[in-house]
Amino acid sequence: MTERVDHFIGGAPSGPANGEYFVSTNPATLETLYEVARGGEEDVRRAVAAAKRAFESPAWAGLTPTKRGHLLRRLADLVGEHADELARLESLDNGKLLREMRGQLATLPEYLYYYGGLADKVQGAQVPTMNPAILNYTQREPLGVVGAITPWNSPLTLTTSKLAPALAAGNTVVIKPSEHTSRTVLRFAELVAEAGFPDGVVNVVTGYGGEAGAALVAHPDLAKISFTGSTATGSRIAQQAAARFIGCTLELGGKSPNIVFADANVQNAAMGVIAGIFAAAGQTCIAGSRVFAHRSVYDELVELVSRRAESIVIGDPMHDSTELGPLAFGDQLEKVESYVHLGVDEGARVRSGGARPDVGLPGYYFSPTVLTDVNNDMRVVREEIFGPVAAIMPFDTEDEVVALANDTDYGLAAGVWTQNLARAHRMARRLEAGTVWINTYRAMSPMSPRQGFKSSGVGIEHGLESMHEYTRLKSVWVNT
Ligand code: NAD
Repeated sequence: MTERVDHFIGGAPSGPANGEYFVSTNPATLETLYEVARGGEEDVRRAVAAAKRAFESPAWAGLTPTKRGHLLRRLADLVGEHADELARLESLDNGKLLREMRGQLATLPEYLYYYGGLADKVQGAQVPTMNPAILNYTQREPLGVVGAITPWNSPLTLTTSKLAPALAAGNTVVIKPSEHTSRTVLRFAELVAEAGFPDGVVNVVTGYGGEAGAALVAHPDLAKISFTGSTATGSRIAQQAAARFIGCTLELGGKSPNIVFADANVQNAAMGVIAGIFAAAGQTCIAGSRVFAHRSVYDELVELVSRRAESIVIGDPMHDSTELGPLAFGDQLEKVESYVHLGVDEGARVRSGGARPDVGLPGYYFSPTVLTDVNNDMRVVREEIFGPVAAIMPFDTEDEVVALANDTDYGLAAGVWTQNLARAHRMARRLEAGTVWINTYRAMSPMSPRQGFKSSGVGIEHGLESMHEYTRLKSVWVNT
């Protein structure tokens, strides 16, 4: 019989109020993995109530910040011990390469150690005022119950980016993972309990966005929503949060430029372009999907990238030799394929890929694709495809490429390849993106704050700054 997985509420697994489950499949083989509790309003109500009770309980509210830090560090140890198991579960769920997930999850404890260390370093300040007889000071307080909604492409890392600072600051959390990847977040919640966090501090309600997700966003007892996902959903959530005057942190989509100047090491740049777009089969928010190459190196770069794209080993994500796995679910495959057809209709030329490869598995595979003869007016260049599709365009001058790179609704990330130091810093200043990489791509760390500009987000994740997203500032005035 197929395994069933339930919500995690108040420190224990909990079946769905409506008794309904839905099937989760392996995108590489299309085999059924398990059945997931289909959450709705009643499940969300119970989870938020558990989180609210925990927030007010002496077991959590009475802990010193240092003790909260100890709990986070204990959780980090446990996650480290189970990293391989979690990587395997995550890879089965979303089709990302097992070795890629192993690498990603090996760094997960660092997030928890980092925020564990920050738990007792959130400070207020004594503030001079216009009246010397008055003592004025500020203090930072936790918000209450935080709702965390996450996508399927890096389920645990993106959840931990929210959960670690939220808990370090003393909040409690209700997580709604993507309907495509429920398993690892539930396993993670078990480790949270094992680490000794009081019941109800971390709760998980699984289910669809329009059901469990919408119910969570609408719950009146939420103090904040922290969301990672598409810009369309983020915009809807922002409007709901604004109507209730609660804060939201939004990490949204991207259409990031990766720019190769004439003075770049073109071999290195080509490798950076490939890693930028084809990692995780292009299903990363920071994918460098718009590649701009100086006209003098354009042909060479197109040749290097398309040749490598053609040699990428596509197959079972569990095998060490595989370099590209499937897309995460059927609709993703349809979407990516229809964008490539749209691009061709708009006049693009397919230099490599562009089709469903035969890899001997029935999963949702799409070949790494390179499009040329494209321009900034085409939908394949303007819209987020979220698949292994690179559009490569030539440019002549620095001013021109800055204008082209910034001519987008998004502003998540950008890459620049050049050996000219002054140009590197100048480009970092001129590009409208929350993260700029010079002669590298994808570098990330829990210590380094990041935010999306324009339609790519609101608020900051990672770093010291993220702690402020989960606290509120109080000003206290004392007549001495
Ligand atoms: P999505 O917006 O469809 O779903 C994200 C989450 O929101 C899921 O858990 C989903 O169930 C839930 N959801 C959907 N509709 C909802 C609603 N009406 N109310 C409440 N919750 C709802 O996005 P996706 O397809 O899962 O993820 C891909 C997107 O995420 C891409 O646009 C990608 O760029 C973005 N992303 C951004 C970052 C970042 O850090 N900026 C990281 C990863 C992914």
